[in-house]
Amino acid sequence: MAGEVAAAEVIGVKHLSSAEAAAEEEKLRLLREAVHALPVSAVKDLWSIGACVRCIFRLFGLHELMCSHPSLSISKWCDILEDVMRNKDGEFNEQSHQERSRETNFCKICLGILQFLYYDDTGTLLKKYSADDFAVVISELVKQQYQQIDSFSLEVSLPSVVTENDQAVWLYMKNKYRHELWFQEKAECQFISTKDIFKLLVINPLQRLLGVKSTQSSFRVRLTYSHSDALTRDDVQEGNGGNKRRKTGFTGDLKTTGESVTPHVESFDSNIVDGDGLTKVCPKEAQDLSCNNLMAKLDKVGKPCSLAIHCCRSSTYIGGRYLKYSRNVSQTRWVIDDERMGEASVEEIIGGAILPIFQGDNYKFHAAGREDIDVRMLGTGRPFLVEIQNARQVPSEALIKEIEKKINSLESQYVRVKNLRAVGSQGWDLMREGEAEKQKQYAALVWISRPVSDEDLQTISSLKELKVAQKTPIRVLHRRSPLEREKIIHWMQVERVSGSSQYLLLHLCTQAGTYIKEFVHGDFGRTQPSIGSILGCRTEILQLDVTDVKMDCFQEE
Ligand SMILES: [Zn+2]
Repeated sequence: MAGEVAAAEVIGVKHLSSAEAAAEEEKLRLLREAVHALPVSAVKDLWSIGACVRCIFRLFGLHELMCSHPSLSISKWCDILEDVMRNKDGEFNEQSHQERSRETNFCKICLGILQFLYYDDTGTLLKKYSADDFAVVISELVKQQYQQIDSFSLEVSLPSVVTENDQAVWLYMKNKYRHELWFQEKAECQFISTKDIFKLLVINPLQRLLGVKSTQSSFRVRLTYSHSDALTRDDVQEGNGGNKRRKTGFTGDLKTTGESVTPHVESFDSNIVDGDGLTKVCPKEAQDLSCNNLMAKLDKVGKPCSLAIHCCRSSTYIGGRYLKYSRNVSQTRWVIDDERMGEASVEEIIGGAILPIFQGDNYKFHAAGREDIDVRMLGTGRPFLVEIQNARQVPSEALIKEIEKKINSLESQYVRVKNLRAVGSQGWDLMREGEAEKQKQYAALVWISRPVSDEDLQTISSLKELKVAQKTPIRVLHRRSPLEREKIIHWMQVERVSGSSQYLLLHLCTQAGTYIKEFVHGDFGRTQPSIGSILGCRTEILQLDVTDVKMDCFQEE
């Protein structure tokens, strides 16, 4: 593995032009210069505590430097640190040489996170040598699953023990070095948490590899680090029979900063007040911050974290209008006591065609209003929206047209779609816009208990903007609250049906939400007036079609 890294570095160098190589040299020179300013004793100190080289750099406030070298392997960072320190202090070599073996171990502070050392979802321990290498793992996963993304947002979740370690080490440093100039100048004001530095390290290489920017995106990359030693520090200490009173005091103090909150300097200051305040306010805790005590705390965790990488995309929406030609197809999947009602559903026919193309996890079907299973949906169709969850693929306009063709050429011929198109989440607003005012047109085949007269036809056709009071129909009382609603029948036209004197074809335009079946038969007087009450005879509705839903949404442009 080490051989591979060296080779990669050589190849990297080979591709550089002389100007680029010079720039690289200059960057390395600056890096060495910055490292040279570090206090040898404090570096040794952190190293002996078990900090990884990246934690050392970040604890000295050199995070920017680190982030500007994403391709530099961890062993290279060690070489530089060791080399520079050796120049300052001849004895450094001896110590760091021993400590180098630590590089195969995990960092006691970040638990391997900044070393890109982690257990993957199969429980295999993996180590990536640089931020670039680690970003490749994520980008390959994203590219494998998602055909196309236009931006991403990176979400990182770390176990609380890492936050606690950050806080403990920072308190330790502050306690020990607060009087030293290097600490006051840099480390004190530039403390960056493991989580923040991790994001800073990974985001640039990831942007480059994915070829898109990191922003507030509908596409999220979630990195969740967890630790199977899910013991809090309290548990660990109590389990070891430590001095509970003293140590609980210490952890209590840490916890007030909140384990999910990134530990910024401000949050520490609010607890500690100032350098002197630390010993005054909590002298016992200060004793606790000795090197041995800190190491004892850090040593409680015996292995690196596990990492789970999840990507997900916010819902994608496809809108259109549907027509339904069957009187045995419900709008949504309808199952009563494990028994399916109707032959199919509009929802499943359309969603089932869209989902595999988008490669989403799931879909939801939303329509502007609904018709009963035995009512056909004709004319310009009914607006609908399909919400696809976590789509791996965002199809082009052409592919969406293909989906439309595919649905319309299905053998069953129950459902057709029109004007299928991708819409943003504003599709919702389009659907709701004017829903209350929208009009609907119907054609109903009606039977009456006596022969139809010319007067009947005239009576019905003459009614305009007829107000109708409808109590919640008996057939839906089990799922709708009992209310009385006023609806408007805008106009009606009637045709005789040839060959039968007791049938008529009723065309009507109504306010949305009118119960048409009840308006025809009266629902035992619960709808007033009704066709029955107007004609003074018994009436039944035999068939109903929706012939138009007057909404602009997803109409042809
Ligand atoms: Zn570390």
